[in-house]
Amino acid sequence: MSLLEVRNVTLKFGGVVAVNDVSFEVEEGEVFALVGPNGAGKSTLFNLISRFYDPVEGEIVFNGENLLKHPPHDIAKLGIARTFQNIELFEQATVLQNLLVGRNRFRKSNLFSELLFLPSVRQAEIENRRAVEDVIDFLDLHAYREKYIAGLPYGVRKVVEMGRALAIQPKLLLLDEPASGLSVEETQDVAFWVEDIKKQMGITVLMVEHDMHLVASVSDRVMALADGKKLALGTPQEVQNHPAVIEAYIGT
Ligand code: ADP
Ligand code: MG
Repeated sequence: MSLLEVRNVTLKFGGVVAVNDVSFEVEEGEVFALVGPNGAGKSTLFNLISRFYDPVEGEIVFNGENLLKHPPHDIAKLGIARTFQNIELFEQATVLQNLLVGRNRFRKSNLFSELLFLPSVRQAEIENRRAVEDVIDFLDLHAYREKYIAGLPYGVRKVVEMGRALAIQPKLLLLDEPASGLSVEETQDVAFWVEDIKKQMGITVLMVEHDMHLVASVSDRVMALADGKKLALGTPQEVQNHPAVIEAYIGT
């Protein structure tokens, strides 16, 4: 059984078929990349998997569960975390606070148990802190932990955005263009992190990325899309050399 199965999924925005009968499977433990020109439907696929949108056709199965039966707020609990192409952090909060926000979804408590500060609440707090500290260590964010997002350089925000998703300790991490706008050195860091997320943390990664060098260096498999349709799926090399892919890129 694959960790994620996307089967014949279609989504339309008015007359635009943003995702057109797309199927693919992501295996547990792999890094799987989605590539394709702007408007190919990559972010829309992420939005479908994270339940922002309902497909008009098709099925999405995660970890054996029909994902379409679940509301968006269940996604993190099921084990899926994502980053956004346009960073979505709380600007007027610190790095630490932003990393803790995602963890709050794991609170099993209600207001009553919080008021009483029951042991279960204390235990959850300890676990949240530990998960966040692990992320701060992993991404080397110590220097920024008490800094407000609003004052941070773009490259650091991009790292915090990844950290916010990692703090959820997902089974599947969706990264939407993790290297866009980053320098060569920063992109190299992203490559190392993605490798470690897979190898050390055992998290499966589904990534949208334009930097083909990064894609080829970290991905086990790649799917190319154009105009909402699947063009090719295979190893990075197979996909890069696929005639339909070459044509789609030259045509843009
Ligand atoms: P990619 O991430 O591959 O660049 P998107 O998934 O963002 O592409 O977009 C796929 C297509 O769907 C594009 O034609 C885009 O204009 C359209 N689209 C995406 N989101 C919306 C939306 N919320 N409303 C209307 N059209 C949209
Ligand atoms: Mg996009």
